[in-house]
Amino acid sequence: MSEKLVIKDLAKSFSVNGGKLEVLKGINLTIADGEFVAIVGHSGCGKSTLLKIIAGLETQDTGICDMDGQAITQPGFDRGMIFQEHRLLPWLTIEKNVALSLNSHSKADCAARVDKYLSMVKLNDFKTAYPSQLSGGMSQRAAIARAMAPSPDVLLLDEPFGALDAMTKIELQDEVKELRKKEKSTMVMVTHDIEEAVYLADRVIVMAANPGRIRDIVTISLGEERDRGSADFTVYRK
Ligand code: ADP
Ligand code: MG
Repeated sequence: MSEKLVIKDLAKSFSVNGGKLEVLKGINLTIADGEFVAIVGHSGCGKSTLLKIIAGLETQDTGICDMDGQAITQPGFDRGMIFQEHRLLPWLTIEKNVALSLNSHSKADCAARVDKYLSMVKLNDFKTAYPSQLSGGMSQRAAIARAMAPSPDVLLLDEPFGALDAMTKIELQDEVKELRKKEKSTMVMVTHDIEEAVYLADRVIVMAANPGRIRDIVTISLGEERDRGSADFTVYRK
């Protein structure tokens, strides 16, 4: 499998109260094309910062973050991002929210993609609804459709189900697992739910608290079918 994302000796710090907060240091990580990697770790260890650097929303201080052999800061990469809160625009209908991510596509292609992805997340009957008319789970599914519609180079998910009730969370995890079988996009998901990570991802990365060093990489062989509750939690306690 070819390399999609290569991160080498990456470091990032923030200036806080006149001092320097080292958040990421010595991060090395390679993600293969089509791989689903989950990142877990304590709150504040730098997971979101790492995801934002991959998304181009933050820039590293030093080190490499390449996609397809080019610096991620180069224009032309499509990255879909899904946050804990859906971030849909309240004044636009669901279909228009999804279409927003497709403004570089032709009108016909845009309409076809809106249809395809909204039906993939089972929202075809809600195209003309507004975000306020949707439940939390439905809004998050719309956000997933919006992020996936342009077939991004990489799909980034930052605690996507963290704000959902337990039942809805299980439904959405299963939907993402199904979507994954249809669309083999590269996915990086931050979660604090280890069971979710093991259920969904091909590989789980545990980040150490300070500074955000990758402590452990748990590899689960690709294509292996896993049931809920199959996680062996002891491996994370090393
Ligand atoms: P995580 O997602 O693992 O909980 P974050 O990446 O959000 O962690 O944050 C890591 C650390 O960096 C935290 O201490 C946070 O307060 C700090 N941090 C994140 N973004 C900024 C910023 N823009 N300015 C200053 N500090 C930040
Ligand atoms: Mg975070």
